[in-house]
Amino acid sequence: MRLGRNLGLKCPHCSALVPSAHRWGTPFECPGCGRQWQLSRRYYDVVGWLDVALGACFALALGCRGWQLLWGIPAGFIAATVVVTELRFRFFPPALEPWCSEDRHWG
Ligand SMILES: [Zn+2]
Repeated sequence: MRLGRNLGLKCPHCSALVPSAHRWGTPFECPGCGRQWQLSRRYYDVVGWLDVALGACFALALGCRGWQLLWGIPAGFIAATVVVTELRFRFFPPALEPWCSEDRHWG
């Protein structure tokens, strides 16, 4: 699997723009300094929980209460993820951390 979109990644070492296209399970390579990077898992953990909170707010704003929240929060999470993802990549691009081959299941 290849990530085709430009994530706006910058090398933490030399600040060069790092191409977003790469094979899943392989490192991002900086064209400036040649270092290898991976996406910060912590970034996506934080973003994921923010999307869940936003999804819960979305469901509550639409009037979901009690057991309706069982489907309302996941539906709100999906809606929040779709709506916010483009803005997030534009204003808060994912951070990079040094490549760890043992953590290669993470893109
Ligand atoms: Zn670099």
